[in-house]
Amino acid sequence: MKRITVLGATGSIGIQTLDVIRLHPDNFAVHALAFGRNIEKAVPLIQEFNPEMVVVQDDHVKDELLKQLVNYEGEVRSGIEGMVDASIHPDVDILLNAVMGSIGLTATMRAIQAGKTIAIANKETLVTAGHLVMEEAEKYGVELLPVDSEHSAIHQSLNGENPARMERLILTASGGSFRDKKRDDLVGVTVEDALNHPNWSMGAKITIDSASMMNKGLEVIEAHWLFGLPYEKIDVIQHRESVIHSMVEFVDRSVMAQLGTPDMKVPIQYALSYPDRLDLPKTKRLDLEEIATLHFEKMDFERFPCLRMAYETGRMGGSMPTVLNAANEQAVQLFLDGRISFLDIEALIGKALEKHDKIRKPDLETIMEIDKETRKQVQTYIN
Ligand code: NDP
Ligand code: MG
Repeated sequence: MKRITVLGATGSIGIQTLDVIRLHPDNFAVHALAFGRNIEKAVPLIQEFNPEMVVVQDDHVKDELLKQLVNYEGEVRSGIEGMVDASIHPDVDILLNAVMGSIGLTATMRAIQAGKTIAIANKETLVTAGHLVMEEAEKYGVELLPVDSEHSAIHQSLNGENPARMERLILTASGGSFRDKKRDDLVGVTVEDALNHPNWSMGAKITIDSASMMNKGLEVIEAHWLFGLPYEKIDVIQHRESVIHSMVEFVDRSVMAQLGTPDMKVPIQYALSYPDRLDLPKTKRLDLEEIATLHFEKMDFERFPCLRMAYETGRMGGSMPTVLNAANEQAVQLFLDGRISFLDIEALIGKALEKHDKIRKPDLETIMEIDKETRKQVQTYIN
């Protein structure tokens, strides 16, 4: 029996993680649930899973939640310290980190130091501080099991292989909501248009990131840290069906891929059950006759400048990816709030990167400072 702390329990990944846990009561149990402020969604989950600890984003939400919880005897905490304590408790076997954004970094770092296995959906953690996360993981001998479907596909393709024989990673990209639009067509697209993803149903921020192709850019950086290949050996290809979830080419030109219908429960469950597999009865089987044709198209870096900026900042390293991530988080929030246009997202990120003086090997404190400063900067660009 593995006991799991779920950070981001009310989100798209969090809810699907709880679906997986529910399917396998003999294998998995909930230790703690953390969420931001969606009390309405959280209360029934708390009642159902009866966790030892519940964590919310701040004391205001905590007070509101306490008013609504009846017969709950566990502890209710708030903030980052609460997330940390829920993650490092001796009873916890796996931390599944599915909060949105770099706010998940501290809990990941502290859980690594406590020797916990980490199922990582929170890609922003790896983008903003990949060198620190990987250094700590190595030091404490901790496994980082990817939840992101592309990275899970690579992880599965590497099963039983010698990682030193990897030649190239090929990440597939669905293309997002605007894959059939030209750049000129992007002027004036609405939040609603951007949130309408063709293949996956996900949280708002990652859906916007998919439309701008920043999501794939963040995933390239994530892959660099998780699998240790240089950027010139990480390729992205557009594959609109999302059937092949990513591939590994080896030195002998053999390519291993992982395929399936697009359903996040598959990579979530693999991270939790690894190295074993469990059944997933309600997930649709892959029907290749029905799909009939798979398409592959070259990525256009002019069309998707966010992908280009991600490669560039990844290669530059140091504090640059921290700025990329923080500027993106801030810009996407401004777009979702209706304050800027879709094309302003890439412009604001470009400006933040341009203004930043790179720090070669930032420590945790410096990263958090740069993250905060970058968000403030981006805000001032629009005022
Ligand atoms: P959602 O926006 O659906 O969920 C985010 C979760 O984080 C919510 O539970 C939210 O709580 C919580 N949260 C936000 N801010 C805080 C905070 N300050 N303190 C505590 N909790 C907080 O996001 P997704 O589930 O889509 O994505 C989560 C992560 O997984 C992201 O890093 C994303 O890139 C990654 N990912 C997602 C995929 C998907 O299919 N959705 C696929 C691959 C990766 P609340 O809503 O209650 O405020
Ligand atoms: Mg992905």
